Amino acid sequence: MSDCDLLILGGGPAGLTAGLYAARARLHAVLLERMMMGGQIATTETLENYPGFPEPLAGAELGPLFEKQAQQFGLDVRRFQEAAALERHESGFSVALADGSRITARALIAAMGTEWVKLGIPGEDNLRGVGVSYCATCDGAFFRDQEIAVIGGGNSAIEEALFLTKFARRVHVVHRRDTLRAERIVQERAFANDRIAFVWNHVPVAIRGESAVEGLEVRDVNRGETTVLPVTGVFIYIGMRANTALLQGLVAMDDRGFVAAGEDTVTTCPGLFAAGDIRQKPLRQVVTAVSDGAVAAVMAEKYLENLGDE
Ligand SMILES: Cc1cc2nc3c(=O)[nH]c(=O)nc-3n(C[C@H](O)[C@H](O)[C@H](O)COP(=O)(O)OP(=O)(O)OC[C@H]3O[C@@H](n4cnc5c(N)ncnc54)[C@H](O)[C@@H]3O)c2cc1C
Repeated sequence: MSDCDLLILGGGPAGLTAGLYAARARLHAVLLERMMMGGQIATTETLENYPGFPEPLAGAELGPLFEKQAQQFGLDVRRFQEAAALERHESGFSVALADGSRITARALIAAMGTEWVKLGIPGEDNLRGVGVSYCATCDGAFFRDQEIAVIGGGNSAIEEALFLTKFARRVHVVHRRDTLRAERIVQERAFANDRIAFVWNHVPVAIRGESAVEGLEVRDVNRGETTVLPVTGVFIYIGMRANTALLQGLVAMDDRGFVAAGEDTVTTCPGLFAAGDIRQKPLRQVVTAVSDGAVAAVMAEKYLENLGDE
């Protein structure tokens, strides 16, 4: 006998929406979140593209709204509970939590989101928290009137560079190419902002400093020459990797951990559904995460119904 019908791992937009739909389907669903609810949006300054909110919405406001709505229908939400290991049994899934306890379920929705890819250069690890950051919302205010660097050319990098101009005197955007991948509207804002300086065709090679960041060494990809940018902060946005170590060996995934699952969220492991940013998909946004969450809950409900018939 399992502890619950459905276990949801991750309290971001995908997990909380899965919980809302599962609770409304009258499943006994439990959601585990290792930190605060809301996932990545909790650290996103403003959302301008989530339909239904014409005014810019603080990311931190949306998570509690998702949670409240799911709880109103009876979702069992458990904060600060980290799933540490996962096993598949004949009757379902067994999850070992970081606190030593265990919970079993007949079906499982994995919605653990992503984490930032590291540069892997000297200084990155030892200067993390003292100048090296992956979160502008969390750390931007420490760099008031300072000179900083943002690494990357995608939407997140450019949006965060724009946000950081509220504090920093100058934001150097270091990009390995001479064009950006960010949406046009985001690019236009960045090009119009005189606090942003683009360092095209350069890659970071080392972050300098002993107990704080004192400079960023960058290399020209065409000429091979290196120079040092006089920055005290380095914000890194060069891509994401899925938080799916738990699922290794259970489901098919690519080399960055993104799970092979189609729009129906069905994985190669029966009874295990993948929702949100962990899934292989062309667009990772709140709107696609909530869509996945809803679909995964409905697919899990159907799976459980079929189990009941057997
Ligand atoms: C800087 C930045 C800006 C963004 N701006 C926008 C934007 O403007 N508009 C937009 O639509 N999208 C934006 N996004 C993308 C959006 O935030 C994501 O697409 C969305 O949050 C994905 O939802 P998710 O539920 O799949 O994963 P996440 O939001 O990543 O949530 C996953 C949750 O799972 C938890 N978790 C992980 N492992 C475990 C475990 N073992 N046990 C328990 N819990 C676990 C994590 O703590 C996390 O809370 C932005 C993202 C970033 C990083």
